Amino acid sequence: MPELPEVETIVRDLAGLLPGARIGRVDVLRPDLVDGDEPDAFAARLKGRTVHDVARRAKNIVVGLGGERLIVNLGMTGRLLMAKSGEEDPSHLGVRISLADGRELRYHDVRRFGRLWVVGEEAWRSFDGGLGVEPLSDDFTPEWLHASAGRSRVPIKTWLMDQGRVVGVGNIYASEALFRAGVDPRRPANTLSATEAARVAEGVRQVLTDAIEFRGTTFLDYRDASGERGGFAARLKVYDRGGEPCPACGTPLERLVQAGRSTFFCGSCQR
Ligand SMILES: [Zn+2]
Repeated sequence: MPELPEVETIVRDLAGLLPGARIGRVDVLRPDLVDGDEPDAFAARLKGRTVHDVARRAKNIVVGLGGERLIVNLGMTGRLLMAKSGEEDPSHLGVRISLADGRELRYHDVRRFGRLWVVGEEAWRSFDGGLGVEPLSDDFTPEWLHASAGRSRVPIKTWLMDQGRVVGVGNIYASEALFRAGVDPRRPANTLSATEAARVAEGVRQVLTDAIEFRGTTFLDYRDASGERGGFAARLKVYDRGGEPCPACGTPLERLVQAGRSTFFCGSCQR
């Protein structure tokens, strides 16, 4: 499932490609992928608009259209690809947004857990306000993390993945950040000292920044806007490496299930 670095990679690519482009025809081939509006109304809200900017909020791609915004959430297997009109359609094409200059923005999704929807200013503010802190923003400080985690008894790994608190950190990067921080993923969030909270905050920022540099992690499905794989999977230190030696101390890495998701960690380095 795409997390912050994967979505950020797509957003940065599209931010260099889309602004100034005018939307022509919009074809909704899979109506269940569109939220909020009937397919015809969705298409009508987009048609004729010019792309002002492309940004990310949490794990969502936000295409600014001057007043309205198109939001794309990739779900598990969604891909948002730039193509030229006439190029062969990918399988599982869900929505085709034709641009007046002959290019196309194509959304396709094998498992169809992704969603596209259009919001006006008020709906945007409500959506934005319901999401947690951006971990690469100035609001994500060690002090904030320590104070906020201090009010919760859930395990710190589960805490990091709650999108109402911190956005964009999913299963892969939560495990990786806690390994970098040397903090056991099972620790109740409110037992972290100020020093440990600072290490967790730094671990989160570092692993996300490094993963963006390598254009995200691809195990199976994730592709950037050009259809290319991310390069960070080989650089993961603990995720999906249960039983392998810890890269720091050589102890076999452990796997456990927390809130239904696999966690990977070193029982020796992480306390
Ligand atoms: Zn270790």
